[in-house]
Amino acid sequence: MAHGTFGTAINCMDGRAQLPVITWLKEQYGLDYVDMITEAGAAKALLEGTPEQAASVLARVRVSVEKHGSRIVAIVGHDDCAGNPVSEEEHRRHIAASVAVARAWGLPVEVIGLWLGNDWQIECIDA
Ligand SMILES: [Zn+2]
Repeated sequence: MAHGTFGTAINCMDGRAQLPVITWLKEQYGLDYVDMITEAGAAKALLEGTPEQAASVLARVRVSVEKHGSRIVAIVGHDDCAGNPVSEEEHRRHIAASVAVARAWGLPVEVIGLWLGNDWQIECIDA
């Protein structure tokens, strides 16, 4: 097992979304590191992507959980997303639905949804 405490984020590949998520998760969960699994429009990729795409995300989450001991998985959506250019309301629904998908994986983790607003502040999404 790796040293240090790890969390996991399923995040957009957008460079603006990386540091706010890492910083927030480290602070909220007392983590040393955040493993970042990125897709363009991560929630949409989980909901509407190909089976191969979903399997690829899950395989990476498993490495984070099984090899790094992560117990928290955050699924992140953000404002002004080129990978999922929908309204904020719809994007939030995508995040909530993708949290349900990830919970159904049955991994020993807490799964949360996060929204990154246009000020790059993080808000938890009820799911
Ligand atoms: Zn994006």
